[in-house]
Amino acid sequence: MAIYTCGHTTPDSDSICSAIALAYLLKKTGRDAIPARQGEPNPETKFILEKFGFEAPELKTEFSGCELFITDYSDKGQAPKDIDEAIVVGIVDHHKLGDITTSSPLECWIRPVGCTNTIVKEMYDYHGVEIPKDIAGIMMCAILSDTVIFKSPTCTDIDIKVVRELAEICGIEDFGSLGMEMFKVKSQVQGVPARDLILRDYKPFDMHGSAVGIGQLEVVDLSIFDDVKSDLQADLEIFRDVNNLHTACLLLTDIMQEGSEVLVSSVDSSIFEKAFDKKLENGKVWLDGCLSRKKQIIPFLEPAFS
Ligand code: MG
Ligand code: MG
Ligand code: MG
Repeated sequence: MAIYTCGHTTPDSDSICSAIALAYLLKKTGRDAIPARQGEPNPETKFILEKFGFEAPELKTEFSGCELFITDYSDKGQAPKDIDEAIVVGIVDHHKLGDITTSSPLECWIRPVGCTNTIVKEMYDYHGVEIPKDIAGIMMCAILSDTVIFKSPTCTDIDIKVVRELAEICGIEDFGSLGMEMFKVKSQVQGVPARDLILRDYKPFDMHGSAVGIGQLEVVDLSIFDDVKSDLQADLEIFRDVNNLHTACLLLTDIMQEGSEVLVSSVDSSIFEKAFDKKLENGKVWLDGCLSRKKQIIPFLEPAFS
């Protein structure tokens, strides 16, 4: 039986590129593997796959009875609905430990680095497997994306070292300008429906019994949201209501100014305000220096719900 490698719902570049890279590694170490994805690739991921000549992995949302090697998450909230019927053989991830459990021993590669692909690179090194040029390219791009070209507080020296090594393998010296090209693709939001933008990089969380959803859009210039911000706020309100969320947030992250404007819709905004010790103005607030949902939002918001 082939092992499926697959990242989280609403896949990002890390989820999709790590599934491809991990499936290749598993095959090279004698285990049959098929990369999969739980949703549509976003524009940035499409750009990366196209640049290095990859098709998107197979779309797969049901894993009952299948062997599954999870990449880039360990929360049930981001897993396929039938995760309890899947056989989880491994997890490679760089987030806080989630609530997925198994009935058999599994392989775990979980480390606090900037990107799952950084850990996948360490897995290649551990197994002594050579990384093909095209796979090195997509792994490198995923790390540049997750670490916001090394600007994110989640970025570690290991991520930077791994990017340099991958750049050498794929033969791209100026990885910084490739990173900027990626973020310019990411910044194209004109004409995209508000709901699609909310869901582009969206994660659901269970915070001490309260359902919370947090989306993030990383762009090179926040002013591109000037015309669409009120639409985004109105739709965030509807989105929270129909999904029965306590709180829905959308981070509008400016990677050049290095901060995020957070749009907040909540049944009780005082929880968000308490978490960040800031008052919302018209349902939004600027958080200076905030680039990372994982490190600068969740660790503050979650305890505020307890
Ligand atoms: Mg991810
Ligand atoms: Mg990641
Ligand atoms: Mg991200």
